[in-house]
Amino acid sequence: MKYLPGGASSNLRGFPVYTPHPIYIKRGKGCKCYDVDGNEYIDYQAAYGALILGHCHPKVTEAVLEQIHSGTMFGIASELEFEAAEQLNRMVPSVEMVRWCCSGTEATMTAMRLARGYTGKDKIIKFEGHYHGSHDYVCCGYHPNPSDWGSRISPSTQRLAFSTGVPEDTLKSVITIPWNDLELLEKVIRRHKDEIGGVITEPIMGNGGMIFPRKGYLEGMRELTEDNEIVLIFDEVVTGFRVARGGASEYLGVRPDLHTFGKAIANGYPISVFGGKKEIMSQIKPGGAYHSGTYAGNPLGLAAALATMKELDNKAAYKRMYWIGEKLINGLRKAAERADEKIFIPGFAGFFQIYFTDKTDFYEWRDVAGNIGASKYNSFVWELYKRGVYMHPSVLERIHLTMAHSEDDVEQTVAVAEEAFKAAKARGAEWTLPAGL
Ligand code: PMP
Repeated sequence: MKYLPGGASSNLRGFPVYTPHPIYIKRGKGCKCYDVDGNEYIDYQAAYGALILGHCHPKVTEAVLEQIHSGTMFGIASELEFEAAEQLNRMVPSVEMVRWCCSGTEATMTAMRLARGYTGKDKIIKFEGHYHGSHDYVCCGYHPNPSDWGSRISPSTQRLAFSTGVPEDTLKSVITIPWNDLELLEKVIRRHKDEIGGVITEPIMGNGGMIFPRKGYLEGMRELTEDNEIVLIFDEVVTGFRVARGGASEYLGVRPDLHTFGKAIANGYPISVFGGKKEIMSQIKPGGAYHSGTYAGNPLGLAAALATMKELDNKAAYKRMYWIGEKLINGLRKAAERADEKIFIPGFAGFFQIYFTDKTDFYEWRDVAGNIGASKYNSFVWELYKRGVYMHPSVLERIHLTMAHSEDDVEQTVAVAEEAFKAAKARGAEWTLPAGL
């Protein structure tokens, strides 16, 4: 706390969910991590989903070590950029060309700029509850309060900004509306079609609750964007290489114009990528859309990405992870039942969440806000920590499986979860976090 605001390097790792300070992790191996006091946790945060193969996967570590000995940075183009792009294209064929970056933020920022540059139209539609990083154009409408919602069709204004310091003029180019409502999207597109250059969406909402698209919603979004010369961007920073080998576009059967990937693509190494249709991507050129970065396409990240994607190019590995994930979800449901606690688990075996509610109909952020038992969840995960299981303390994050979790880990988790449900419940109506971890 003395040197770091919130005690961490990211708001989501510090306040407001950790009290009085974050857990500080020293090392990880497979699906386990260990804190500075020597406590062991079965890790279901998995670095916000990045560690799809688990901590310190041997093949990825080996590839990175080999690269360290060959050179960590060139600042000159390297073969790895091409090899990793080719592997990505094999797994997600609609990614015809790519540009490598370092973070999800950089990938969405540049993809949005490219959409504006390609269409010559400055406005971008984004959705309430969706998160696309920390650049100014997406610092709005993440978890807006009901008092700020306004009418469903009203464009975003400064009141939806979740950070100070975001210029009002920047936000005027972003239209924030509720998700999963095709009629509304159509109305907004018809009204502003000559100004809208792009639509950016998480194909499965994973940052403001776990919500799947309604049947036909993304298909309708695809059609509307195509008909109105709008670039459709799927932000697959979470869903990519997690919901399927080919990400959400394979899983849901809808192809956007551009994708962004981060997290699981490199099993925790800091690299990201955006890519898609050749016609659009080729607008990145002198005089066209600008993209550069000292560390863009850095060899260590690329070595990790290539090794990770090769490991993930294996449908059987996903099948096994989902099978284990199903066991965990079913076990958690039964554990809650035995503790006489009402829960709803949205999502599926690769990533999901536990809502403390008897409600089951969630379609957009406005359904989630204030309705999913945030403080009960907080209290539950605190009981888990004491028993050696780690989940992110915010119910608005996700529980992630890795390919390193085994049946034994899941069984142990379910046993612990039953105790945690009961212990948290025993604290009564007062579901507040006790002081001190
Ligand atoms: N898009 C989505 C869907 C995300 O979940 C995140 C990060 N949680 C980002 C973009 C931003 O990625 P980064 O934190 O690497 O900048």
